[in-house]
Amino acid sequence: MEHEGWWVVSNGRKLWLPDGELPYGTASGLGLEGKHARQIGEYQGKPCWLLCHEPSMNMESVRRLLATDRLLFQLAGRGVQLAEFYRSHRWCGYCGTQMHHSDKEFACLCEGCGERYYPQIAPCIIVAIRKGDSILLAQHHRHKQPIFTVLAGFVEAGETLEECVHREVMEESGLSIKNLHYVASQPWPFPHSLMCAFTAEYAGGEIIIDPAELKNAAWFNVSQLPKIPEIGTIARRLIEDTVALCRQD
Ligand SMILES: [Zn+2]
Repeated sequence: MEHEGWWVVSNGRKLWLPDGELPYGTASGLGLEGKHARQIGEYQGKPCWLLCHEPSMNMESVRRLLATDRLLFQLAGRGVQLAEFYRSHRWCGYCGTQMHHSDKEFACLCEGCGERYYPQIAPCIIVAIRKGDSILLAQHHRHKQPIFTVLAGFVEAGETLEECVHREVMEESGLSIKNLHYVASQPWPFPHSLMCAFTAEYAGGEIIIDPAELKNAAWFNVSQLPKIPEIGTIARRLIEDTVALCRQD
């Protein structure tokens, strides 16, 4: 039987989005017949197939799907991450043997030494800090546009999420925080992060930015916010949650 459903056709951290959308249909209808596809999930009751290494197609960033639907963005991001995992795990890092894909799970297996590799996921914290009616927002060097957002950073080896939040906030802004609360998480396929979102309250200190990480940082009254991240990002949700909290009190 021919595969029908949604198609994540991915290569080099990008995916095929004809007309800006994730393609739906049969393999032959989309010109994808005869290739090895693998199911990676379902969307709206229909299977989603992953097809890796299609360098000839016109590829785009999965970011284009951010504003559509959360589940669709998540599924497409999963496909792009898995394609990238397979592309970067062709040989075993321990013994150099060529590896093959497991049929039972998303893993690469080495017959040389028996090692098994799973997709790498990098946990990352992101935190909205509140002080009265204000929120701490910063401009990061990595953003090309003048956009202000909350602080974020990667979890280090041997560190808890909570320790990471306190360390990142201190390193990037010089501030100490209290009343840390977990909010939600979001898989973020750029290239393989898991954003773990928190809210916190200001506890002490003056803003001293880390110039290697930030262009600037300041307290913004929630009624006068600068340009903030787009809808669909967890940063946006954290900022909106904090605005709602300030208005409540
Ligand atoms: Zn090996």
